[in-house]
Amino acid sequence: MKIGVPTEIRPGETRVAATPETVKKMSAGGNQVLVQAGAGRLASFPDEAYAAAGATLVPDAAQVYAQAELVLKVQAPQESELAQLRAGQILLGMLNPFDAEGLEKLAATGVTGFSLEAAPRITRAQSLDVLSSQANIAGYKAVIVAADHYGRFMPMLMTAAGTVKAARVVVLGAGVAGLQAIATAKRLGAVVEASDVRPAAKEQIESLGAKFIDVPYETDEEREIAQGVGGYARPMPAAWMARQAALVAERCKQADIVITTALIPGRPAPVLVSEETVAGMKPGSVIVDLAVERGGNCPLSRPDQVVEAHGVKIVGYTNLAAQVATDASALYARNLLDFLKLVVAQDGAPAIQREDEIVAACMVCDANRVLRNK
Ligand code: NAD
Repeated sequence: MKIGVPTEIRPGETRVAATPETVKKMSAGGNQVLVQAGAGRLASFPDEAYAAAGATLVPDAAQVYAQAELVLKVQAPQESELAQLRAGQILLGMLNPFDAEGLEKLAATGVTGFSLEAAPRITRAQSLDVLSSQANIAGYKAVIVAADHYGRFMPMLMTAAGTVKAARVVVLGAGVAGLQAIATAKRLGAVVEASDVRPAAKEQIESLGAKFIDVPYETDEEREIAQGVGGYARPMPAAWMARQAALVAERCKQADIVITTALIPGRPAPVLVSEETVAGMKPGSVIVDLAVERGGNCPLSRPDQVVEAHGVKIVGYTNLAAQVATDASALYARNLLDFLKLVVAQDGAPAIQREDEIVAACMVCDANRVLRNK
């Protein structure tokens, strides 16, 4: 199989879909890997390393798309990339399975597209779980970015010039990103508390040494909805959200840093930190809103901007994983390599295992039709 790796062209994207490590494994598996010259530069993977791993370097994207039978991408194709895809090609990437319009355009190219964000959260799919590998990095980087914008220390310090109090960090949403944010903030010496709708999150938050912000369920309906579905949260009833908002407002008043990561698949992000809550926060405190691309957990956050409101800095970077380009690429490329086993045989021949539940869940388009459109 000829596998192509073009340079990512979406603004701000620094990651690359294959690394010299994964190229070596794909080559050993009977594939020819075509890497666009410079594809790994922003992630610190030089062309020479790809060549040493067995890749064929090609000068431009046009040649990658023209020759490849299977294309590895990070971001969903932009317009100019769509124009280069062709019927019968296989495409692997983060193709935005909830973007109906984008999927229509992709299907129109005739490619067989696999969107790895759509993989089920089952044990066998863990090694190809791109949402987890990238959210883990985003959660880490959110804390580093917050610390950078915060005008004080994170840890408690006792110095000859006096004592500095530890920063108080509130994490809202304790999935993959939130749990890593908790762990990172703890490592930096902050006092951390966190909230989530799912009851399973309590134990996970506490196991990291953080305090659980408990919003008790008052009805069976609330308890049932909070369980979520397939590991994901569902929208909670308004009464629970109102009680959570009141508690969050109180905790945010005491906080120095608030990291928000709350998401519900296929829906706008729930609003957890209202403008009124921001207005009640201490001057100099920092909010990092990881949900900004989906509307934000704070209505004041703006994509790829740092805004200041009521003396609070609100950071809305949409692609924090891309700010840790080398490791984000390394983990993402391994996720793709793992998925590849489900669509390419050991000798490099195409072999899409259509009956496999992971393959079926990830296949978003085939033979000009959109297969998954939620
Ligand atoms: P996500 O990115 O979809 O959402 C982030 C978090 O926001 C979730 O924990 C969600 O419960 C929470 N949330 C939603 N609404 C909220 C609200 N109003 N207030 C507070 N929090 C709210 O989720 P994710 O990080 O992808 O992970 C979801 C779950 O899936 C986690 O339990 C994770 O451990 C699990 N998971 C399982 C596997 C596996 O078994 N293969 C792999 C990855 C993740």
